[in-house]
Amino acid sequence: MSVVSPDSLDEALEALAADPEAHVVAGGTDFMVEVNFDHRRPESVVSLHRIEALRSWSDEADRLRIGSGVTCATLERSPFTALVPALAQAARTVGSPQIRNAATVGGNLGTASPAGDLLPVLSALDATVVIQHARGARSISIHDFLVGPKRNALEAGELVVATTLPVLGERQEFVKVGMRNAMVIAVASVAVVRIGARLNVALGSVGPTVLRARDAEAWFAARGLDVAAVDEFAVRVAAEARPIDDHRSTAEYRRHAVRVCAARAARRILR
Ligand SMILES: Cc1cc2nc3c(=O)[nH]c(=O)nc-3n(C[C@H](O)[C@H](O)[C@H](O)COP(=O)(O)OP(=O)(O)OC[C@H]3O[C@@H](n4cnc5c(N)ncnc54)[C@H](O)[C@@H]3O)c2cc1C
Repeated sequence: MSVVSPDSLDEALEALAADPEAHVVAGGTDFMVEVNFDHRRPESVVSLHRIEALRSWSDEADRLRIGSGVTCATLERSPFTALVPALAQAARTVGSPQIRNAATVGGNLGTASPAGDLLPVLSALDATVVIQHARGARSISIHDFLVGPKRNALEAGELVVATTLPVLGERQEFVKVGMRNAMVIAVASVAVVRIGARLNVALGSVGPTVLRARDAEAWFAARGLDVAAVDEFAVRVAAEARPIDDHRSTAEYRRHAVRVCAARAARRILR
């Protein structure tokens, strides 16, 4: 297996253009599990680990740009706890401290699991994914990026270089249910973000990919985010989940969990 470990983004893009079949690895917390279970047999690997530029972030004109190499350990701390609290909350629930030191935003997007904890928050915030190829860059909505279970819109030779999202200065919440309190993949998760007179709601682990509860969002906005209507709002959010039975949970429990999490998150935001 050949491993290329470039120092710059340009070198990484050139390496991928020359060998579009090469596997990209960032923190390796998903990639190496797949290799260990023999689900992937890479002949060539491009590691992003040494590319400093991907680990940077900036906050300009109320929009945050987070490099794809930023880790969950970085996101769970200040200033992200103030800038984008739900993302910090989600990052804090990923794996263990060791995993969070390695796990990146780009890796969560690259895996595109319906249980990827950062993804419901990016969806609720209508984030944009910045993608680059040796030929040029493009930006797409998170909703177009996540195309199915563990499937994203990346084409051969492309890398996620960053994600951009609004800094809202309003309350937002991420709530996750799992089999235990730590080191757990979500059975269900809910991200709720207040944007003025509406709440955006995105659901994890209860569909083939992250889902937005758009009908419930519109219904609640039309009721002026009346706190007395939170329970019905949560029932409507749960109705938009598309859960399945699997080794982690039943569909019925997942729908129940979504309802409880949505109500809890909405109450915290509106109190
Ligand atoms: C013990 C354990 C616990 C875990 N717990 C959680 C959890 O609670 N919540 C959760 O969400 N995840 C969890 N994970 C999964 C994993 O840690 C996350 O998905 C993490 O964000 C992956 O990031 P990474 O940098 O390690 O990705 P990698 O493993 O390096 O890459 C993952 C995928 O993304 C692609 N990729 C990486 N970077 C880019 C890029 N810049 N551009 C294009 N493609 C890219 C790779 O090619 C690969 O397909 C856990 C994993 C382990 C091993």
